[in-house]
Amino acid sequence: MADQTIVILGGGVGGLVTASELRKRLGKEHRVVLIDKEGQHVFWPSLLWLQVGLRDPESFVRDLGVLQGKGIEVVKGEVEAIDPERKVVRVDGAELSADYLVVSLGAQLAVEQIPGLAEAGYNLYSLEGAAAIRDQRKDLIAGNLVVLVTRTPFKCPAAPYEAAMLLEYDLRKRKARDHVAVSLYTPEAGPMPITGPEVSAGVRRMVEDRNIGYFPQHQVTQVDSVTNTLQFANGATARFDLLVYVPPHVAPPVVREAGLVGESGWVSVDRHTMETRFPGVYAIGDVVGIPLSLGMPLPKAGVFAHREGEAVAQTIAARINGTGNAGSFDGQGECFIEAGDGKAGFGRGNFYAEPRPTITLHDPGRHWHAGKVLFEKDWFRRWF
Ligand SMILES: Cc1cc2nc3c(=O)[nH]c(=O)nc-3n(C[C@H](O)[C@H](O)[C@H](O)COP(=O)(O)OP(=O)(O)OC[C@H]3O[C@@H](n4cnc5c(N)ncnc54)[C@H](O)[C@@H]3O)c2cc1C
Repeated sequence: MADQTIVILGGGVGGLVTASELRKRLGKEHRVVLIDKEGQHVFWPSLLWLQVGLRDPESFVRDLGVLQGKGIEVVKGEVEAIDPERKVVRVDGAELSADYLVVSLGAQLAVEQIPGLAEAGYNLYSLEGAAAIRDQRKDLIAGNLVVLVTRTPFKCPAAPYEAAMLLEYDLRKRKARDHVAVSLYTPEAGPMPITGPEVSAGVRRMVEDRNIGYFPQHQVTQVDSVTNTLQFANGATARFDLLVYVPPHVAPPVVREAGLVGESGWVSVDRHTMETRFPGVYAIGDVVGIPLSLGMPLPKAGVFAHREGEAVAQTIAARINGTGNAGSFDGQGECFIEAGDGKAGFGRGNFYAEPRPTITLHDPGRHWHAGKVLFEKDWFRRWF
């Protein structure tokens, strides 16, 4: 096939994997272009360690420009418009045409949706927020530490549970635990409900064994930053001295304006090929909404963005090269669950299994924690 241009929007997990896999599979005559507004790649799981002072941002943020050396054209710029019919995107005012387009723009964090939230607490899901938690937690020697999930869906369903357990461990290490109550409020019916009642109960046990107050079915409506009080839709209130929150997530406006978003509020795709209704336009990762048979969507997680990116790269390469099989995403995923005390649990399974996902949870152990540390190391070795 004549020289082709593949444009990948977003240099997070999905975009990085897709661009790298395509570069490996395609001849030099074909262009692989990766566009990201920040121009850097963040290994997001490490925010959980940053918030308790176990990492510096420099250790898990990389300049995407490094990929130029591997033959990937990296553009630092904001995707302002996507025309999926013509496969044309506008980046910082300039138009770029593609033969294949891969959208991996992630979820946008919408802190402003909850009145008072930004003023009252710290965003666990941003670099600045996690660094602020690291600094602020040192002053907390008595009172209430609250981890708050504001809305569903949110990426990495385990992350707020891990955050609460790591903060609790940190309080013990600092000998402040006796005077600080730790609580977790969430609108979910239980932890990671898509994983089924047994795994959900297992994660709940991990949290409650550490004497963390767990308050499911609590949807926050507003936050009073003067009295440090949360108000919930069910009428309950809660006081906090340190508030760590997971903000609401929305699809980035540019994909909504492109007509790519379905009823779920997220981009609709074929759940195996990841192709949108526009031929040659794929979407992967947090930006997509994949309904599962239980009426809950596939969780937003890096492990899925990664595997979806591999599948899409395989498909595009097979189409361009005219040989090889198309890729297919099969719903398999796994994740480590940091539990404090140098331990982590581990969940793994098939999220596409019928009639319900089949997930198993392994009890916390030191080897799973070591596995997560190794995964972080391998990530940078593999892709940069
Ligand atoms: C604290 C935390 C812990 C986590 N832990 C885990 C874990 O243990 N396991 C796991 O599987 N997942 C985990 N995740 C989730 C995982 O990080 C995400 O699911 C994953 O990053 C999704 O990949 P993505 O490519 O869809 O989006 P992202 O990685 O978010 O990348 C999107 C990219 O698009 C860029 N972008 C957005 N809009 C524009 C625009 N208009 N123009 C140009 N560029 C734009 C952004 O700069 C960004 O680089 C965690 C997340 C957090 C926050």
